[in-house]
Amino acid sequence: MTAHPNTEPLIRVMALHALAYCERLFFLEEVEEIRVADAAVYEGRAMHVEIEDAEPMEPLELADEEIGLVGKVDALRRRDGTLIAYEHKKGRSAGGEAWESDLLQVAAYALLLERAFPSTVVEGRIRYHADNKLVRVPQTDALRGRVLDAVKHARELRKGIDRPAVTMNERLCIRCSLAPVCLPEEERLVDDPKHEVIRLFPPHRDRLTVHVLNHGTRVGRTGNSFTIRDLEGTKTVYPAAEVGDIVVHGYSQVTTQAITLCAYQEIGVHFVTGAGRYVAGLTPGAGRVQRKLRQYRALTDPVVCLQLAHQLVRARASGQIAFLLRATRGRQERSDDFNLCIQRMRNGLRGIARAESLDALRGHEGQVAKAYFEALPVTYSDDVPPELRHTIRTRRPPKDRFSAMLNYGYGLLYRQVMQAVIAVGLEPACGFYHTPRSAAHPLVLDLMELFRVPLCDVPIIASLNRQRWDPRRDFDVAPARIWLSHDGRRKAVQIFESRLEQTWRHPVVGYSLSYARLIELEARLLEKEWCGKPGVFARYRPR
Ligand code: SF4
Repeated sequence: MTAHPNTEPLIRVMALHALAYCERLFFLEEVEEIRVADAAVYEGRAMHVEIEDAEPMEPLELADEEIGLVGKVDALRRRDGTLIAYEHKKGRSAGGEAWESDLLQVAAYALLLERAFPSTVVEGRIRYHADNKLVRVPQTDALRGRVLDAVKHARELRKGIDRPAVTMNERLCIRCSLAPVCLPEEERLVDDPKHEVIRLFPPHRDRLTVHVLNHGTRVGRTGNSFTIRDLEGTKTVYPAAEVGDIVVHGYSQVTTQAITLCAYQEIGVHFVTGAGRYVAGLTPGAGRVQRKLRQYRALTDPVVCLQLAHQLVRARASGQIAFLLRATRGRQERSDDFNLCIQRMRNGLRGIARAESLDALRGHEGQVAKAYFEALPVTYSDDVPPELRHTIRTRRPPKDRFSAMLNYGYGLLYRQVMQAVIAVGLEPACGFYHTPRSAAHPLVLDLMELFRVPLCDVPIIASLNRQRWDPRRDFDVAPARIWLSHDGRRKAVQIFESRLEQTWRHPVVGYSLSYARLIELEARLLEKEWCGKPGVFARYRPR
C-alpha cells in the first residue's frame, strides 16, 4: 500500500465507493481487510473482460499523496481534448441517474486525473449495462469537495477498532457481498425480537473437507489441484477451488508445494493423531488486529466472561436434558433411576442460573454432565451389543469402545470449530470459560460445548442403534486403551461429515442451515456479544 507523507496509507478510490454504499462495508473491507468475491463480483469482472475484448481499454494507476488518494482508472479515453474516466456497471442506473457511490467513485478518478494533468478538461462517465444508460458526470467544485470530505471521513474511520453500525437501508444488505460476515439481519433481530430475518447467510459449506485417513498417503500438488496418492497407488484429484480444508489423520505427508497452494487459496491443513487428538494446523489469514483487539478487550473482563459462560453452560445442559427426554419419548414408563438423573440435571441447571463465579459454574456443569452420562444408556436400542455400551466415561486414553467413538468424534469437532474460529478471525487461545491448561485452545473448547450433543453424541448413538458398528473390526483393542481401527475411523468421519451436512431450522434466527454453517454462525454471533449487539449467541437448542 502506498504511504501518505504522514505515514497514513492512501485511501483507494474503490474504498470510497464502499464508504458511500455503507460505512460498515468500508470498515470491513478496508480496515479489517475482509473481502468476499460473490457471484455478482465475478459477473462484474467477467463483464469487464468482455468489454476489454471488444474495445481495448487504457488503464492508468494514479496516486496523489497530497489529497491521500490512490486509484486505477480502468478505462481512460480522450475525446476532443477531454480526458474521460469511464466506469462500467453491470446493474441498472438510479432511474437514469448515477448512484451516489458510483458518482463518488468516478468523481474521485476525475479528481486524480485533473491533478495529474492540470491543463486538461476531465469528465467522468458511467455506463449502466442492465438498462443501457450512459450517465455523464462533469467535474464540479461540489463533487471535488465531496471526494475530499469522503477521504477525510475514511481516514477517521480507519483509526478506530469498532465496526460502524449496520446500515438502516436493508435493501443495501441484500446485494452486499459481505452480508454473510456482517450478519446485519441478526443484529436487527437483537434490536427488534419480532424482526423477520431474511437469510443472507449461506445454508451450506461451499467447499469440502478432505480427510486423509490411510497412513503413508502423499498429498501433492498438480497445477491448481491436489493429488492424493495412497500406498496402494490409488490416486484422487481435488481441484483446489473445491477444497475448504485438508485433515491428515495419523502419518501421511503433505508436500511443500501442496502447503503453498493451501496458503494461497486460504485452505486449512490440520493434523490429528490416529486416536483423533488435534495436533496442529496451518491456517492462513490470521485475522486482522481489530477483531483480536476487540476480543482481548472483552475477554479480559471477568464480568463479560462470566456472562458468556452462563449462556454457554446453560445451552449445553439444556441440550443434554432435551436430548435424553426426546430419545425416551413415547416409552411407557421411564425408570426411577432415569427420572432421578433428569432431576439432578434440572437441579444443576438451576444452580447454573445462580452461579456467581466460573468455578461455581464448573461445579454445576460437572453435576449435570455426571447425571447425563449415567442416564445415557437408556438411549441405546435393545440390539446394541454389550461391548459397545458404556459404563463410565473414560477420556485419555479411552478404555471402552463408546469412549473411543466419542473421543474421536470430539477430535473431529475440535478441528471443525477451530476452522470456524479462524474463519471468523478470532483468536483461538483467548477464551472465556475454559482455562489455558493444555495444548488445546480455550476458545475452541468453549464453542465446542454448544455442539458436543448435536454433532457427536446424537449421531454416534443413532449409528449404534442402527448397528453400524462392528465391535471387532472397528476397534483396536490393547490392555490399557481402546482406539478406533482404520475402518472405525473411516466410519466416524462418514458419520460426522454427513451430520455436518444435515440442515435444520434455527429456532432463533428462523432460517435453515447446515450444522457446518451453524458452527460458523455461532462463532460470528459470539463476536457480536462484544461488538455492541449481544443476545443471540448460544440461544439455539439442538434438535
Ligand atoms: S451487509 Fe449491510 S450493513 Fe453490512 S456491510 Fe453490507 S450493506 Fe453494510
